[in-house]
Amino acid sequence: MDQTRKDTSKYKQIPASVWNAVMNQGFDFVFRIHVPDGIMSFAHACESGALVDYRRSFDPYAEAPDFSDFCKMMLDRTVDEEKDPFRDQTRLEYIRREVADRGDYVRTVHIIVDGERKSVNIRIFPDPSDPEMLIGIMFDVSAFLDHDWMTDEYARIGFVKKIRDFLKEKPEDRNVSLVYTNVKGFKAINDLFGEQSGDMVIFHTRDRLREILDPIFIGRPEGDHFILLVNDESLTEENFNILGAQTYSEGDRQYDFSIRAGIYHVTSRDVPIRKMIDRARLAERSLSETSVRTYMIYDDKVRASYINRQKYSSEMSSALESNEFKAYFQPIVNAADHSVASAEALIRWQHKDIGMISPGEFIPAFESSGQISALDRFMIDRVTDLNGRRKAAGSPLITCAVNLSRIDFYNNSLMDHLLSIYEKDHSATDWLRVEVTESAYADLENNASDYLEKLKSLGVKILLDDFGSGMSSLSTLENFDFDIVKLDMGFIRKIGIIDKAEMIIKSTIDLSHALGAKVTAEGVETKEQLDFLSRAGCDYIQGYYFYKPVPEDELEKILDREI
Ligand code: C2E
Ligand code: CA
Ligand code: CA
Repeated sequence: MDQTRKDTSKYKQIPASVWNAVMNQGFDFVFRIHVPDGIMSFAHACESGALVDYRRSFDPYAEAPDFSDFCKMMLDRTVDEEKDPFRDQTRLEYIRREVADRGDYVRTVHIIVDGERKSVNIRIFPDPSDPEMLIGIMFDVSAFLDHDWMTDEYARIGFVKKIRDFLKEKPEDRNVSLVYTNVKGFKAINDLFGEQSGDMVIFHTRDRLREILDPIFIGRPEGDHFILLVNDESLTEENFNILGAQTYSEGDRQYDFSIRAGIYHVTSRDVPIRKMIDRARLAERSLSETSVRTYMIYDDKVRASYINRQKYSSEMSSALESNEFKAYFQPIVNAADHSVASAEALIRWQHKDIGMISPGEFIPAFESSGQISALDRFMIDRVTDLNGRRKAAGSPLITCAVNLSRIDFYNNSLMDHLLSIYEKDHSATDWLRVEVTESAYADLENNASDYLEKLKSLGVKILLDDFGSGMSSLSTLENFDFDIVKLDMGFIRKIGIIDKAEMIIKSTIDLSHALGAKVTAEGVETKEQLDFLSRAGCDYIQGYYFYKPVPEDELEKILDREI
């Protein structure tokens, strides 16, 4: 026996008032933890059900074990998929912090007892009679519920059972929907603040969903996702706007994130519940990475676009191998004399069955599957090859910008490939530039934005794409030194139509200049737009007024004609 062990007799005695109260609620098992030394004492262990097992290991009246030993014993019985979170989240320090933050700590763990899976609910809260003590209660809930380990909400199985029963009883005129949610920015919060904060965000999300959508049932099938059955009256634009604009703060640090939702209207009882959940999830996933919308209702369009996405994704590698992808180039001119200044590389897919597919159609599919990086690498290599050939032939090189997706910055091998081009050939900064959209830039965290800084420090010109589309903010210009700001074509369209838009364009050009950046206007199609932009001091013009995107050989012809 460990000689250093303190006399624990005083912990063994739980005031009768405390545990009588708890036992009267029908709990199976009550303990206290003395926080400073982590020693447990027991009040009661029930003879029936799952919990009798613990009593066999620890005689509650004879021994005061360490809480950590007790958890180890529980861990042996815990189902495999919960072993890791159980090990992490039953550290006394973790529990103590959660009790301090939230007032209590509640989990449901699944254990195997005599070959049978049991759900055990654990609650830990402060002992009102002693600030050094926590009270814990455990009870076997397997008989009536299947709960999620962390949030104590229904897990998938429990939720499906509940919905099935509910729909059986539902009156015809009560309209309900399934809502599947996703925390956009969850990964960033985990990376920025640490995992326990990520957990807090899950609690926060659960609480907001309960408060705003007032669900009939709520479950947490996985990770940062919740699934809810709600009355259709709750599905208002306003509610989704509130859910879309959440803030997590810790100390003086803040992080904005949005709770996005996919909605499936329950119209028929014949659709299996799992299908309904899949459809709500599909609707959520069909919101693109950059969309400002925060919810999507499942309909035939969502379905069709999903089928296309699936199809495109499965065909990508073979299409790349059989050269179905082509690099096109759109020349960009100097506003002053209309001479060609540079070009933007734009991908095209000449599909063997469908014909030409525009990037707007397949890029979102490849962004969500992560395959976009292979295509962006392909485009980088086309620009490198083109200039390699021109260099060998003694022709002037062509400055080209390639588009990078947000995902690319999380792809180390692509980033290393790109960096190695500049490291191998220092003059590459003269002919290879990169474009990033504002929303992609805003989404980059630590690691990913290090790459942007690294490129910048090598002298690579970084272009801010689509500025003025969606929710632009001037602080983006302040936060990073972009070399060129590209005004989105949505803005350019308003020239000659909306006075206010013209003023905004003029001020954005002035501001960019003041911050040391040049400005390109995109999508210039008319003489009127061109004239306005020239007067406003815009530096470069891109658009059909001068050139459409063309294949490589035509680009070379245009340039050779010019020179
Ligand atoms: P973007 O980067 O904003 O590219 C400019 C888009 O505007 C191109 O569409 C171009 O063809 C089009 N455009 C240029 N001038 C005019 C004009 O005067 N009028 C009109 N109506 N359109 C004009 P495109 O080639 O269909 O590309 C669409 C988007 O797909 C691009 O928008 C870019 O975000 C993405 N994309 C294209 N190629 C790549 C690529 O290689 N990698 C990645 N990650 N994204 C790409
Ligand atoms: Ca672009
Ligand atoms: Ca653009």
